[in-house]
Amino acid sequence: MNKPQMLVVEDDLAIGNLIMTTLETQQYQFHRANTGAGAVLDALSYRPDVMLLDLGLPDMDGVDIIKKIRSWSNMPIIVVSARSEDTDKVAALDAGADDYLTKPFSVDELLARLRVALRRVRYDNKKINEAASIYKNGDLKIDYAAGCVYQGLRELHLTPIEYKLLCLLTKNTGKVLTHHYITNEIWGSTSSSDTSSLRVFMATLRKKIEPDASHPKYIQTHIGVGYRMLRQQNSKE
Ligand code: CA
Repeated sequence: MNKPQMLVVEDDLAIGNLIMTTLETQQYQFHRANTGAGAVLDALSYRPDVMLLDLGLPDMDGVDIIKKIRSWSNMPIIVVSARSEDTDKVAALDAGADDYLTKPFSVDELLARLRVALRRVRYDNKKINEAASIYKNGDLKIDYAAGCVYQGLRELHLTPIEYKLLCLLTKNTGKVLTHHYITNEIWGSTSSSDTSSLRVFMATLRKKIEPDASHPKYIQTHIGVGYRMLRQQNSKE
C-alpha cells in the first residue's frame, strides 16, 4: 500500500472540504461522494482502503450504507457524524463501522483514527499475503515466498526443475496435468525427449516428497495422460 486511498462520503460542502484538505496534507489519495448511492458505487469502483462516512445523507441513511458495504467488503469504515447519541453510535458500530467520530472533530483526532484504521489494513493485507504464500497438503508444506519445501518438519532439498515441477502440481492440486502441459510449462517445448526427462524428474521428485516412492500418495500417475497432485485426507484445505 503506497499511497492509501480514502473514500470521503460527506454532503456538507464545508466539512467535506476540511476533510479533503486534511487528507491532502498527509498525501493520502481520495475520492469524494455526496450521496449514499454514490458512496456505494465509488466503494465498488475505487476499492478504497478506508471510508470516512457521514450518516446523514440526502438519499440514504449511513447505517444502511455500512450494512451494504459489509456484505462484500471488510475495509475500515470510520463514521464522522453530528449524531452524538449513544444509540446512533451503537447502531453504526453494530452495523459494522470500525470507529465513530463526532462532529465537530479535531483534525488531529481524525488523522489519529485514520492511522489506526490503516494499521489494521496493513495487518490484514500481510496476513492475506502470508496465507497465500504457504501451501499445506498432508505433511507436505511449501513456503512459496522463501522457496522452501518441507515434509513434516524436515526441509527437502529440491533441484530447480524439481521445485518448478512440484509448484506446478501443487498450484493445480486435484487437477490432472497432461505431459504436454507440464513439459511446455517447464521447458517451453513438448518434444518426446522432454516427456522422458519429465519421467526422470518425476521419479527423483517422488523419492524426495513421497514417504514411500513405490506407492506414491501425493503425485498420482495417469498412464498415457499425465500427473495429478492429490489432496491428502488429513489436510484442512
Ligand atoms: Ca450530512
